[in-house]
Amino acid sequence: MKVGSPILARVQGEGRKSLLETEAKELCREYCIPVTKFELAKSETDAVRFANEIGYPVVMKILSPDVIHKSDVGGVEIGIKGDDDVRRGYRRIMENIKKNNPRARIVGITVQEMAPSSTEVIVGAIKDPQFGPVVMFGLGGIFVEVLKDVAFRVVPFTGNEASDMISEIKAYPILKGYRNMPPADTKAIADILMSTSRLMTDHTTIKEIDLNPILVYEKGAKAVDARIVIE
Ligand code: ADP
Ligand code: MG
Repeated sequence: MKVGSPILARVQGEGRKSLLETEAKELCREYCIPVTKFELAKSETDAVRFANEIGYPVVMKILSPDVIHKSDVGGVEIGIKGDDDVRRGYRRIMENIKKNNPRARIVGITVQEMAPSSTEVIVGAIKDPQFGPVVMFGLGGIFVEVLKDVAFRVVPFTGNEASDMISEIKAYPILKGYRNMPPADTKAIADILMSTSRLMTDHTTIKEIDLNPILVYEKGAKAVDARIVIE
């Protein structure tokens, strides 16, 4: 059993209710949830250096405690393939934020490894007023947002229950593989569900987790975005 997290303590100490994407991903990493590699750039020059270290293509995203939905304000650039694009992307993101959310405090811009596109799933956690902490699973996009095709479990739960969560959604055949689509690594998803459950049981201050999206492959899975809210 893990008690206390320096990241959560710092966020609480600063009176913030929400972890930055970088902080959320660090906490995820501590729980063996695979996340995209990232570096925090404070200048165009930083960004170019990090992009070369990480390797093209890269993704760039605004990092701000005041921006929750990054793409809504033009804060995400994907598929960046060269140094000039990094510089242009950096400037474009800054301009977009100044235009769409002029009062946002900007920490910097993260440069991230670009995860190859694949089936997108969502893992979330909330504190239900009746059941307490619950973990949610569904496929990305319309499956969760429109069709509400999701599975829930009260934490903590077993590995078998994590597997059941995956197979009980209606969209499960998509994960199982069809036509020329290879099967997705459901074991990797089950591991993320278990880790999310552990995060909720270890840290009662966590109110909400949103790993959206997680890209799932034939082998492995990777969270490209992470949001964690505390009480
Ligand atoms: P938002 O705050 O808008 O949810 P995200 O970090 O989820 O921002 O980025 C928006 C979209 O961009 C994601 O849904 C995903 O499709 C894509 N994306 C973001 N980061 C990456 C990445 N590192 N690799 C691949 N695709 C990414
Ligand atoms: Mg997202």
